[in-house]
Amino acid sequence: MRVSFVDTHTHYAHKRFDSGRDEIVNSLVDVDVLAVIEAAIDFESNLKMKFICEKYSHVYMAVGCHPNCVGEMDDYKYQKIVELMGYSKVIAIGETGLDYAKNKSEQHIQIQKKWFERFVLLAINTNKPLIIHARESYDELIKILQGYELSECPGVIHCFSGNEKQAIELIEMGFYIGVNGMFTNMDMDSDVCQALKIIPLERVLLETDSPYLLPKGAKGKRNTSANLKFIVDKLAELRGESSENISRVVLENTKRVFTKIGL
Ligand SMILES: [Zn+2]
Repeated sequence: MRVSFVDTHTHYAHKRFDSGRDEIVNSLVDVDVLAVIEAAIDFESNLKMKFICEKYSHVYMAVGCHPNCVGEMDDYKYQKIVELMGYSKVIAIGETGLDYAKNKSEQHIQIQKKWFERFVLLAINTNKPLIIHARESYDELIKILQGYELSECPGVIHCFSGNEKQAIELIEMGFYIGVNGMFTNMDMDSDVCQALKIIPLERVLLETDSPYLLPKGAKGKRNTSANLKFIVDKLAELRGESSENISRVVLENTKRVFTKIGL
């Protein structure tokens, strides 16, 4: 049986795809990838993603600003992001979140929190799912999210890197868990792998975070959505399930979270 995929987190707008983008994005259908969701990195990326969405029918986008880039945000840029939401292919808010791995200064953490909460509110007010980036910040992130009246299906924790307890707390809040190639290079008894082993399959989404995080077994330097298969196979091995079943269930999950894709 042939199964189809949606790559729920990509960065084809990244300059690493300035050469070869056309060929890679156009050939996704040949590797059974029906659609991809581009996530914002810095402010500029929002504008570049729109350009790419206009060019390719199967590319959708999320607007926002990655926590490591929020230092450049201001009210004017925020307003521009809000205006972009009128575009029909904007189907989510993200990346947004808290990343304490790179810069732990109190000042940077405060700036990250301020913008994260602004984007959470924007998602609530516009009824769009969140694409959340969290690194070394899970407990604080969960605490912040608990302070809001979230919808039944508030979004996805992309590139999940927390533990079992944190995964369960997020799932209980309605979130889905984004799984990419990162865990394929980890010890099977690591916290992340143990969490991915026990979470309900009905709450898993698949992504590559392309061009980053090349999964184990994949060739080349730039990660692309064609490598989703390596992630599924490794997840199947970890959970003792079939790759076909995982792909089938995850596609249904994707339709529930990103209703605007219209698959
Ligand atoms: Zn990303």
